[in-house]
Amino acid sequence: MISATGGPPRVEEFVREFMNRFIARNAGQTEFHQAVGEVVESVAPFVLAHPEYLESRILERLTEPDRLILFRVTWQDDAGHVHVNRAWRVQFNNSIGPYKGGMRFHPSVSSSILKFLGFEQVFKNSLTGLPMGGAKGGSDFDPKGKSDREVMRFCHALMTELQRYIGEDVDVPAGDIGVGQREISFLFGQYKRLNNRFAGILTGKGLSFGGSLIRKEATGYGCVYFMERMLETKSESVEGKTCAVSGSGNVALYAIEKLIDMGARPVTASDSEGFIHDPAGIDRDKLEWLKQLKEVERGRIRLYAEQFPGVAFHRGERPWGVPAQLAFPCATQNELDERDARRLIDNGVIAVAEGANMPCTLAATGMLLRARVAVGTAKAANAGGVAVSGLEQSQNALRISWSAEEVDRRLQDIMTNIHARAAQYGYEDDGYINYVRGANIGGFVKVAEAMLAYGVV
Ligand code: NDP
Repeated sequence: MISATGGPPRVEEFVREFMNRFIARNAGQTEFHQAVGEVVESVAPFVLAHPEYLESRILERLTEPDRLILFRVTWQDDAGHVHVNRAWRVQFNNSIGPYKGGMRFHPSVSSSILKFLGFEQVFKNSLTGLPMGGAKGGSDFDPKGKSDREVMRFCHALMTELQRYIGEDVDVPAGDIGVGQREISFLFGQYKRLNNRFAGILTGKGLSFGGSLIRKEATGYGCVYFMERMLETKSESVEGKTCAVSGSGNVALYAIEKLIDMGARPVTASDSEGFIHDPAGIDRDKLEWLKQLKEVERGRIRLYAEQFPGVAFHRGERPWGVPAQLAFPCATQNELDERDARRLIDNGVIAVAEGANMPCTLAATGMLLRARVAVGTAKAANAGGVAVSGLEQSQNALRISWSAEEVDRRLQDIMTNIHARAAQYGYEDDGYINYVRGANIGGFVKVAEAMLAYGVV
């Protein structure tokens, strides 16, 4: 017998009962519910087929972080006023390696958002094949509109506390929304001052102090490499395709760069004010202008429409109504909902690669899967960033630096392997590859095996 959602009733009942208990334990943490719900639904048939996972309560253990550290950050602005922010580090699971995951500075940061991100990071890091556990951290600090000196004082104050909990064999944070090279440099400088040690305790560092070539580009490039692998299974390629991209931060800029390299036509970019539509396509010259605007001047995307003819700025809107064959949501969580998915499908989208974490709502993902659109889920498609962070750790440990070509080659190999692993568990009867399920199971197996081997810990 098949149930309403297509699974056997025992699976449905198991998922419902598990999620009821989980939601009661984590009341109000909606993003965390969403991330766990998707994984539990994917892995439930697999877990039910392996009684040892059930007996050892692997799913209960995997959905509870090892620890959640919460601390106050007190800092002074340029006028001497004192400010108080909250910061967190969620050390989720270190079964297969030291904790690893970014730090996010954004007013929306909460323990729910960091738990969802830390939870997903466990599976993503597992999929890379590198020895990395999962973590995430951040603060409700808003870097927008702050001077460099204010950001420096905030970062120094944050690291004064965070340094107690990290280390190259313990937990190695990196960047995320609002945390780029400037912030990582301030954080690293303060760690070094307090500990008198020069060690790879953060990734995304500057090239002159232990950073890796291609780290900045890795998430965006990796996302496009993953898209190319998905399209190959359909005897297609990114070349010549019109692409809708959201965001204009680290991930979006380098996804656009790789799309241009590979002969595609990216036509949109966005920030929290709205999106620009450039029907002629963002070319190399326009991208260099955009990098200067976003990475150096920290300006707003609407200025692109003032700079280049034939470009429209759509205030308060998202780019998913623009006709495109490929979509790359690269801004933030839940930025593509059911209505957006409908518009993409109606306009003939064939594949979506998630540069951001959990950018599609559960309903949007379901709709895309049912329409047989290839969905490169974030755990797989944006794993290139953390993968090159892992390579940065290796270079730091060996005290060497690989060339850009070497790192890019390794990144491409890793993305190809992640695709193969997600596809291995994702094939459906009609030949469609469900990468969402495939990545969840593929990431789960290695972590679960390690947890079983450790016994009851
Ligand atoms: P950045 O801070 O560099 O850029 C974020 C971009 O998204 C900006 O254009 C920003 O616009 C936009 N954005 C952020 N929040 C919102 C919002 N609530 N609504 C609309 N737009 C928003 O971050 P990254 O590019 O590093 O990260 C983007 C996504 O990719 C995140 O989901 C992150 O977790 C994920 N990711 C990042 C990795 C990395 O290596 N950096 C690795 C893997 C995943 P504005 O400037 O107006 O806020």
